Amino acid sequence: MKHTNFIDCEKLYGMLENNTPSESELNDILNKARQLKGLNLGDVAKLLCVEDEAQIGKILDTAHYCKEEIYGKRLVLFAPIYTGNACVNNCVYCGFRRDNKTLKRKILTLDEIENETLHLLRMGHKRALLICGESPRNDADYMVEAIRRTYAAKDEKGSQIRRINVELAPMSVSDFAKLKAERIGTYVCFQETYDEVEYRKFHPAGTPKADYLNRLTVMDRAMEGGIDDVGLGVLFGLVDYRFEILAIMEHARHLEEDFGCGPHTVSFPRIEPAEGTPFSLPENIPHPVSDKDFMKIVAIIRIAMPYTGIIISTREQPAMRDQLIKYGASQLSAASETNPGGYEEENTGAQFTLGDHRSLDEVISVMIDGGYIPSFCTGCYRKGRVGADFMDLAKPGLIKEYCKPNAMFTFREYLEDYASPETKEKGLRLLKELTQTFPKEELKRRVEGNLCKIGEGERDLYF
Ligand code: SF4
Repeated sequence: MKHTNFIDCEKLYGMLENNTPSESELNDILNKARQLKGLNLGDVAKLLCVEDEAQIGKILDTAHYCKEEIYGKRLVLFAPIYTGNACVNNCVYCGFRRDNKTLKRKILTLDEIENETLHLLRMGHKRALLICGESPRNDADYMVEAIRRTYAAKDEKGSQIRRINVELAPMSVSDFAKLKAERIGTYVCFQETYDEVEYRKFHPAGTPKADYLNRLTVMDRAMEGGIDDVGLGVLFGLVDYRFEILAIMEHARHLEEDFGCGPHTVSFPRIEPAEGTPFSLPENIPHPVSDKDFMKIVAIIRIAMPYTGIIISTREQPAMRDQLIKYGASQLSAASETNPGGYEEENTGAQFTLGDHRSLDEVISVMIDGGYIPSFCTGCYRKGRVGADFMDLAKPGLIKEYCKPNAMFTFREYLEDYASPETKEKGLRLLKELTQTFPKEELKRRVEGNLCKIGEGERDLYF
């Protein structure tokens, strides 16, 4: 299929000129958002132009409402496995870029991938993101083997990774079909920036990544290759964040129109300092995004695309992550290392500096204090509720009927198998309280039944 550019930069930048909404326009947009049907490009452009503190507060409140209505207190946790830091590209902001000579380059062997997986399993993780730089040494065939070995690894308690997502360089339709056959969940690839002119400055010519259109159309090829769920993202700090949000909306519209399903997730990374990478230092970032603006844009995507997962990584500090959870984030990486062999404490170079160094147990302990349900759930993916089917299920709000119980089951497993005694004690208390919140008696009984079975040693129960 021929792929064309669906981003009209001039139009999108034009929509951000003198477009601040009046109070009544803002209220109309936010009332519409509360119907949980999403917003259009024009609405989002107006919200992005809001600067007034009180008006931003209204956007945040609306996002909080949408988040609670759809996701409740559930938060999905995962961790990355960096399989390699070799890269043929030279992206100016990245520690893995080809010309960074300060880095020790490494591509993990399959045994090393198994070791990294075991580290994640022994923390209590069930969802992994396989990620690496772009290199012929970690092509699709290598990734197929890496995925197989990751799924096959089993810790002493018999736990295995239940969903692998991948964040990989663009590839062909036939390579995507190979990954699909290995049961990957979401294919993630960040556009970095949708501004084609600026894109060229950050991705020097002569590298594969310099091809803007190849990257822009990668999700089309992924879907043609049979991948059900795709994850979008930009690297915030490269150009005006407001433009990027509009471009993400356009990308989502394009996927919906051509493939019947928008993105499964949108990630929100900001540029963080990376070793040997002067561009990534705060004073050199062309369009830094303040904490206030970052919260605003997470909130805007939450209300504009209410059923799309929002991912926040350990780039962000714990306090910021706590705020972002309130206003829209639904998935968090936790206890991450961002270098190959990092969980084995190998001293290879990392892609960026971490902002959150807490262990998984510490992250979960804080979540429990806030009443959140840590979820390692993979139920929808394993029941085939993916892509457009997932969206059909999610949109009428049925997500609550499945996701909350399933999150509770995986949380109970974590408490039984991996939690510290303090975390286990307060976690069990929270589960007891949550069980009382199901309005339907039959569902409540089924949830109680499964929680009890998990307490007695059964595993991997889900609706
Ligand atoms: S951003 Fe990705 S493609 Fe660019 S240098 Fe880093 S690892 Fe390579």
